[in-house]
Amino acid sequence: MNPNNFYGNNAGSDFHSIINPNLGGNGNAGANNSSTAATPDNGVPSPSFIPPQPQRYPQQPAESYTPQYRESVPAQQFQQPMQQTQFQSQPQQPRQFAVEAIDLVKDYGTGENVVHALRNVNVGFEKGKFTAIMGPSGSGKSTMMHTLAGLDSVTSGKVILGGQDITKMNDNQLTMLRRNEIGFIFQSFNLLPMFTAEQNILMPLTLAGTKADRKWFNTLVETLGLTQRLKHRPNELSGGQQQRVAIARALISKPQVVFADEPTGNLDSVSSAEVLSFLKRSVREFGQTVVMVTHDAVAASYADRAIVFADGRIVADEQHPTAEHMSDLLMKESERAARQSAAPTMDQLMNGKPRHAQVVK
Ligand code: ADP
Repeated sequence: MNPNNFYGNNAGSDFHSIINPNLGGNGNAGANNSSTAATPDNGVPSPSFIPPQPQRYPQQPAESYTPQYRESVPAQQFQQPMQQTQFQSQPQQPRQFAVEAIDLVKDYGTGENVVHALRNVNVGFEKGKFTAIMGPSGSGKSTMMHTLAGLDSVTSGKVILGGQDITKMNDNQLTMLRRNEIGFIFQSFNLLPMFTAEQNILMPLTLAGTKADRKWFNTLVETLGLTQRLKHRPNELSGGQQQRVAIARALISKPQVVFADEPTGNLDSVSSAEVLSFLKRSVREFGQTVVMVTHDAVAASYADRAIVFADGRIVADEQHPTAEHMSDLLMKESERAARQSAAPTMDQLMNGKPRHAQVVK
């Protein structure tokens, strides 16, 4: 079966174009796609063009899962003054980063039209930590996440993920990296509508041609309260349930890092709290590394750390963020950004033309 037809309704879906080179995105593998391989015991036919991938990560001990888990870490407030300088990642002792940006620069466009989306960003995301990325619109959050995940090229600098500089990888290597080392959670869930919850959860393994670790699958499904929903298709699930399926899908391959892009953006407050609690538990109980872009200070308060972007730079780096403090920081940053964009540039002052008088052609 042609996988393009197989997944035809979703050829443009973020998830599939990200992890499947034959479904668009920036992958370019044009291998044989006219037949299917043996069906792994996921119940989903596996396209034969994808070679089986070895399981890279040891099984987490199941004992570490405690259904009665309650949040026990008191929120601590670190009221640090706002700094407008760029934070540099300067660990006092060697830390293990799941993913690290070194002198990362990303420009869009050239010449007069150049946009400096990331300006020499240095930051490491420690293994087994939950980090929120915040900042006003246009500050560089998405660009940061996309470059960390190998979804966007960089202008200069490095991204080290799992010990490898991914900026040196070609499209096929990046596709394999995203499939094996990275989990994605999107605002719009991006589940495949013709597949059941179970098939959606197992999709990364199906695409990789690997068998599911049933113990891990059961642990995820029980933890996420999906046991009774496995045979349902996405349109038979609530938004919160769909996002929980997406979380299970992101975690099923035990990736180096899970990137969550506004994961609660389409959810009500109760479902949002559920989803954020599960993300937090995946870090506490399974040692997962999670990096989440959010504009929501309450969502950021579930994280161990929150970094704030402004104009392509990190302007704050908070441990144990509280909603109040992050809200305060964001408000100040947004006001500062608004003042900056309203103020005429030096060039405009010299030429006597205020910025708002520029003619849009
Ligand atoms: P955020 O996610 O914080 O809203 P982005 O990372 O999307 O910010 O964007 C950072 C800057 O880069 C913005 O000025 C945005 O307009 C610009 N930008 C983002 N993507 C592109 C692109 N594909 N082409 C040109 N400019 C872009």
